[in-house]
Amino acid sequence: MPSKLEHLVGSGCPEQPNRMENLLENQPLLRKALEELDQDNKVDYAELAPDGEKFLTLFHTQDYINEVREGCAGLKPRETISFDQVGDTWISQGSYPAACYAAGAAVRAAELARTGKKAFAIIRPPGHHAHSDHAGGFCLFNNIAIASEYLRLLNEKVMIIDIDLHLGDGTVAYVSGKEGVSYFSLHHSGLWPATEFSDSNLPDNVNFVTLPNGTDETYYIKALNDTLCHAIRQFSAETKGKGILAVSAGFDTHQEDYKYSDLKGGFQLTDKSYRIAKRILDESSLPYFLVLEGGYRPESLDAGVSIFTEELTQREKSKNIPLVLNPRGCFYACDG
Ligand SMILES: [Zn+2]
Repeated sequence: MPSKLEHLVGSGCPEQPNRMENLLENQPLLRKALEELDQDNKVDYAELAPDGEKFLTLFHTQDYINEVREGCAGLKPRETISFDQVGDTWISQGSYPAACYAAGAAVRAAELARTGKKAFAIIRPPGHHAHSDHAGGFCLFNNIAIASEYLRLLNEKVMIIDIDLHLGDGTVAYVSGKEGVSYFSLHHSGLWPATEFSDSNLPDNVNFVTLPNGTDETYYIKALNDTLCHAIRQFSAETKGKGILAVSAGFDTHQEDYKYSDLKGGFQLTDKSYRIAKRILDESSLPYFLVLEGGYRPESLDAGVSIFTEELTQREKSKNIPLVLNPRGCFYACDG
């Protein structure tokens, strides 16, 4: 595992490298795939993430990209510094390459979806709070925006679905005023950055569903069935069944994140909600790919990733596989 890929953060930040380490610990198939890929063995259901540096300008300004690259290059090994206005987002020497590979993973997952395969980019740092010219909320580059823009420039119609606990403010900025891409978010009503938006300042192609602090599974699943199903049906009709779903998959909605995190609010979901979300995506008959966002307790990430990768463990039966891994920000894809 190249150490230069290691994205380190300050000790108070919940978005730690051990998110990936715990995931690999708890998911034997991911671990096995990564070990085999590290030895240059081909694995039929997994790939290593490609470097996505050349895709960054699909959303970000060159000045900002330079700022991140030079900021990281100027640090000593293991040194970390805060990189946004409020001190949430951190960089280390390895953060720029790690973030480039995370963006590359998201674009590769989008490519797989374009060929009709399901794909999941399991990556860090996350992306949906990153704006074109500044970092935020643990995010350096907006992976889902970059991947969606990649598809949009190929004349694909994209609906971004954000199931993270938090609104993806960077993604809202990305879709604002753009044809061919829309954003649907189901998030906590009182948490940053949702507090900075109201119905009156939303672009037409942005659709929010806000849920209160402590939302339980019954209420959440009802919201999924009432709103997400409807939004996907509408998108499918508008695109005549040809669109692609791009999912910002955050699992900080899990009950373990609610119990233990310092995110100042949360939901009380278990893997059941993620299973319903996956069923809704599967039943849409549209290709989709997922890009990892939040989820900070090992149980939360494990629950979400397990549900969306369980086809891997049944691949003899379904033949619906692949996966892609990027160490410290691993990614994988599920064939469809
Ligand atoms: Zn979040």
